[in-house]
Amino acid sequence: MSTDLARQRCFNHAHREAAARCPACRRHYCRECVVEHESRLLCAACVAAEAAREELRTKRHGWPGAVAGALLGLVLAWGFFFLIGWGLLSLPSPTHAADVWSERFGND
Ligand SMILES: [Zn+2]
Ligand SMILES: [Zn+2]
Repeated sequence: MSTDLARQRCFNHAHREAAARCPACRRHYCRECVVEHESRLLCAACVAAEAAREELRTKRHGWPGAVAGALLGLVLAWGFFFLIGWGLLSLPSPTHAADVWSERFGND
């Protein structure tokens, strides 16, 4: 079995002996051409394919959460500014203050 592997050559380097076999594509590779991925030795092409699949999976799961978070932030920001606006409107207006001023001094 080990001698069989030794006779195999790397898929990328024809002059190099194979050190491992990629379990995904079942081709032989030298130690330089395989990468440890989730405690498995995969070739670079299969790691890239796996990473792309994982990214797609996380994106699909991440999307609704990101949208919900953005909407929540928008609602919170709107509520914050609404409260500020409401607070400013409930304050005594400058014209009202002027009326009090003229009332006090106009009747003298
Ligand atoms: Zn592979
Ligand atoms: Zn190689």
